Amino acid sequence: MSESALQEYAVRVGSYPAYIYDLPGLAEHAAAIRAALPGTEIYYAAKANPDAEILRTLAPHVDGVEVSSGGELDHVRTTLPGMPVAFGGPGKTTEELSLAQRLKVERIHVESPRELSRLPGPAGVLLRANLPLATPGAALSMSGPFGMDEDDLRECARRIAGTPGVELRGIHVHLASGLDAPAMLDLAHKVRAWAVPWLEEHGVTGPELNIGGGMAVDYTDPEARFDWRTYGKGLPSSPRLRIEPGRAMTAYHGWYVTDVIDVKTTRGETYVILRGGTHHLRTPVTKGHDQPFKVLTADGPETTRATLVGQLCTPKDVFARDVPVPELATGDVIAFTMAGAYAWNISHHDFLMHPKPAFHYLRGD
Ligand SMILES: *Cc1c(COP(=O)(O)O)cnc(C)c1O
Repeated sequence: MSESALQEYAVRVGSYPAYIYDLPGLAEHAAAIRAALPGTEIYYAAKANPDAEILRTLAPHVDGVEVSSGGELDHVRTTLPGMPVAFGGPGKTTEELSLAQRLKVERIHVESPRELSRLPGPAGVLLRANLPLATPGAALSMSGPFGMDEDDLRECARRIAGTPGVELRGIHVHLASGLDAPAMLDLAHKVRAWAVPWLEEHGVTGPELNIGGGMAVDYTDPEARFDWRTYGKGLPSSPRLRIEPGRAMTAYHGWYVTDVIDVKTTRGETYVILRGGTHHLRTPVTKGHDQPFKVLTADGPETTRATLVGQLCTPKDVFARDVPVPELATGDVIAFTMAGAYAWNISHHDFLMHPKPAFHYLRGD
């Protein structure tokens, strides 16, 4: 959907705060990603935004969905019956593993030998590897309790070989997030160089390699996009390859729109106080950035600087700090862009008990 149509809609909404999702724009973006990666399976990482309308919009353009909890698993199976699902994440409970069994999840990403021993029955398994590969430039390095070292991987392979019904299908890796295409490719080739001989050695035929998500999203440059074409051209054509992007798929097609309640200057700082707050859009606080925004109703020059805050009684409730803005008054409407991933669903909605935002889904007709 065109930027101007979106802006018009956002102003017409009239009741704030509101999330607006541009579904035609999202479909177009996902189709372009699909076209750029002809030989690679794309599993959307539901944790970036599991909204049912978002899932249904992405469905025709992806090969599956990656889920990280029993809750996501249940939700995705209900919303998109028949869509292949991979279940990952550390700390899967016995109940979650049973649910995965009951819902016949296509792939389980096993994170430890102990987890493997708790699988209740037949399963197609990828072992999650924590490889000692440097990821310079990453926004977030996935160091922590994710995946296994070589000895635990070998132990898992040995146990799987002795467990009827449990099949070792490949390796899963998700090492960092916020990498550009050349860095992601470099990582992919290093992972492949290790994984292919390892899987051969363990007798896996038709092996699968899931190299994770983490494609960069630059909040300081809303026009920038991860270079999917370069990425697609550089990816190896074998073994069977899978990625699981989240943020870079949905970030660009959600807006959090709200209006000005008050403008004030105290101790030399000007604050624009907006309806709602970071309990609806926590992204700038968690990522430590200024959330990109557009002022929709005041089109004068950016003559002042101000800090855009919400209604919460904490100095952390900041969307954007000391940014250039036009003269603003009560009732002016501001749209925070790039609010389609890790936005509403990662926020602490109930803090202070303000009303929840409305959700609008643009369908382009
Ligand atoms: C979060 C996560 C993803 C998605 O990461 P993005 O940065 O949103 O692309 C993919 N795989 C795993 C295992 C994850 O934990």
